[in-house]
Amino acid sequence: MDKKQVVTRYAPSPTGMMHIGNLRTALYSYLIAKSQGGKFILRLEDTDQARHVEGAEQVIFDTLRVAGLKYDEGPDIGGPHGPYIQSERKEIYLKYADMLIKSGKAYYCFCEKKSDTPHDEEQIIAPTTDPCRELDADTVAKNLSLGKPFVIRHKVNREGTTHYYDHVYGDITVQNDTLHDIILIKSDGMPTYNFAHVIDDYLMGVTHVVRGNEYVTSTPQYVQLHKDLGFPLPEYYHLPLIMGQNADGGVSKLSKRHGAVSFADLVALGYLPEAIINYIALLGWHPAQSDQEIFSLQELVKVFDANDIRKSSAIFDYNKLKWVNSQYILKMTPQEFREHAEPYLANTLTREVFDIDKLYEILQPRVQIFSEIGEKVQFFQELIDFDTNILYNDKKKTNPENTREILTKAIENLSKVELDDWENDILYQKLEEIANSTGYKPISVMWVVRIALSGQTVTVGGATEIMQILGKSETLIRLQTTLNRL
Ligand code: GLU
Repeated sequence: MDKKQVVTRYAPSPTGMMHIGNLRTALYSYLIAKSQGGKFILRLEDTDQARHVEGAEQVIFDTLRVAGLKYDEGPDIGGPHGPYIQSERKEIYLKYADMLIKSGKAYYCFCEKKSDTPHDEEQIIAPTTDPCRELDADTVAKNLSLGKPFVIRHKVNREGTTHYYDHVYGDITVQNDTLHDIILIKSDGMPTYNFAHVIDDYLMGVTHVVRGNEYVTSTPQYVQLHKDLGFPLPEYYHLPLIMGQNADGGVSKLSKRHGAVSFADLVALGYLPEAIINYIALLGWHPAQSDQEIFSLQELVKVFDANDIRKSSAIFDYNKLKWVNSQYILKMTPQEFREHAEPYLANTLTREVFDIDKLYEILQPRVQIFSEIGEKVQFFQELIDFDTNILYNDKKKTNPENTREILTKAIENLSKVELDDWENDILYQKLEEIANSTGYKPISVMWVVRIALSGQTVTVGGATEIMQILGKSETLIRLQTTLNRL
């Protein structure tokens, strides 16, 4: 027998930026489909027009494209189940609402709105004894002909229990007397999310619903709706929240106060899309049988097993993301690294250096995210008036006397180096010669020269690499400048 094709969807509401939590939902939904040779659909849930943000659709399209989550059907590419934007499917929902009314599973409710809020969440609660639930047909007809505003509510079954199985949380059972006659169609004729997604998932052939765990408790309502509409129930995967680490040691839902939380902000900080995707795949999932942590999207498609999704909340760890990013940077070819790094570098380093290739070479293994580059290369731009006391260090055995001597000798020896020989190994020999001739340790010489050139104790690259990058004349100028300040 043919196994039914797996169909998943990502169904965001276009309300602005793409939060990391949303992107993880999209990723898991994509992986559940693709790891089983299935189909992945993008649908926009814009029935709550008050929350709609101009341009938010484009953010969703762009993010999924840059992240590599290619959908098989969607608003901008079409497909056999379109339209893929809920506000364009109004008539479809009305038809199903009508069917439910006819079968006695839904009713017109003429009660006045308690508030103007258009949010689905606020409208979910109907009084347990909604007066319109049992209105006779004549009154309904009369109210309709008078043009009284109405909503359509689901007539939920209040007897017994409702059960469904969630692949992350397990068996979920609720007492039906805790359920509500939720609104299906709002007074403006728009469906609620609660209704529209049930109809769309069915019509689009969705077999696996993957979404945030905020829907765990309302899913029994949807289970009843499926039953009353005669729709088969999809498989459910509700994903735990992503948390952020608070300054006080506690955790709370990941938000701006923890750091960048949107895909676009992380990319702007210099994280690579592949690294972000890799890291968020690990936020709540890991292959059971391995320690591997670096996965390309193609590898994820191969190894992803939804049974390994954890139900405990994952904590977003920016340091871990940085580490993952650094692994991707290390894997780049020098050319790729240079292309990515160039704009960040150019922001800070505007003067020409002698050996820019060397600079990229020493940066690549030392950069975790691209936005660190500016700060790391700042000293190549100019030597600031640093506190010369940092030159003197007990461990490195440097003091005012030998520092002056080392600098004097360095200037003397380095001036004799031909431009053609101005490269790391030869420069290293020249500094070693100073150590040999003076009896100071090489480590003391390297320390003094490196700080004299950079004005700081921590630098990308050692003394001779910095000299190679700066070039002969700038090296000599800087060494002399520092010497003059002692
Ligand atoms: N539009 C809903 C949201 O953005 C989607 C929930 C679902 O996937 O069913 O939260």
